[in-house]
Amino acid sequence: MSQQPGSPDQEAKPAIVREIRINPIVPSESVLVATARSMRPKKEEPQAAHDGRSHVETCPFCRGNESMTPAPIAEIPEEGDWQLRIVENLYPVLGDDREAPDFSFGLQQAIDGYGRHEVVIDHASHGIRIHEMTAAHLALLLATYRDRMEQLYHTDNRLRYVLVFKNFGPAAGASIGHTHSQIIALPVVPDNLQAEVRSSSSYYESRSQCIFCSLINEALTFEATLYDRTSGEVRRKISVGQYVIEQNSRFIAVKPFASRYEWEVHILPLAHQADFLEISPADIADLAEIFSRTMARLNTVLGGVQYNFFLHSLPHGSEYEESTPAYHWHIEICPRTSIPTGFELGSGLYVNTVSPEDAAERLRNAAIP
Ligand SMILES: [Zn+2]
Ligand SMILES: [Zn+2]
Ligand SMILES: [Zn+2]
Repeated sequence: MSQQPGSPDQEAKPAIVREIRINPIVPSESVLVATARSMRPKKEEPQAAHDGRSHVETCPFCRGNESMTPAPIAEIPEEGDWQLRIVENLYPVLGDDREAPDFSFGLQQAIDGYGRHEVVIDHASHGIRIHEMTAAHLALLLATYRDRMEQLYHTDNRLRYVLVFKNFGPAAGASIGHTHSQIIALPVVPDNLQAEVRSSSSYYESRSQCIFCSLINEALTFEATLYDRTSGEVRRKISVGQYVIEQNSRFIAVKPFASRYEWEVHILPLAHQADFLEISPADIADLAEIFSRTMARLNTVLGGVQYNFFLHSLPHGSEYEESTPAYHWHIEICPRTSIPTGFELGSGLYVNTVSPEDAAERLRNAAIP
């Protein structure tokens, strides 16, 4: 079936795609895009109602309940009413309270769970969503991530990677309704990040180009027509900007060709930059703008969105320095619309039931304020 981007019946009759797509950044991570699957009858999951209250008496993260959290690591601004706070996580997955030696026993190996686990209370308003925050507030939040990452890297050289992420909604694993994100500082560089760095470095070695920059260029300029081998019919047209959701002077939001999740979107700086810590204040303002608009689009299309997002930036440490021209920091936004099945867990192959081309078009066409 041919697909004419922009044709009026696009929504009614999306092209059926059934193919295994290789993730260009990490080729071992592939995705089975199988859109016919989404036409199966399926149980309607009730959409978790969004709690939009601005204040909740019993919420430990609401203003006035500061005594219910551990002492703050930071309150911003320092004087007057706080706009956001950083506190220790009460139930940390990692801690620095005790030190246990690494051990190995037979084939089993363990690394001490040393690290830090902090909560960023994103906003004083309990149920506010990213796209409802002012641009200035969102910029303050992003600058806070940057500053805290820098402090953690510089105060403790045992910390090898600082991961900033957010779970929003029960389907995404958020256990407290008040909007918050998390910072986990790890004693090891996570595997998926190492794979991204390794793979982009080997691409750089052979082409002297950053693979992320190449993908951005491709998203902006590439045009191709694929023909069916037997019938000669147009099978698929890949056109300029087909994967672009949003763009401003410094950033781009794209739908990855091999998206693991139906509504996954990545945000990247247009100009090459490996380390998020090097972002300038002007960049942060632009990042806040594109982030807000992207979240608003997801919210419109999905009618309320539960998601995880996380920030991938070049790890610190001398062994990563030479990957500076090869690696490109980015934010991955992964809305949760389905639960992984045994097939996915057993095969490691993600199944995506909405073609990334259709998803990108619907996101681009979504009405946002
Ligand atoms: Zn609250
Ligand atoms: Zn780049
Ligand atoms: Zn990544």
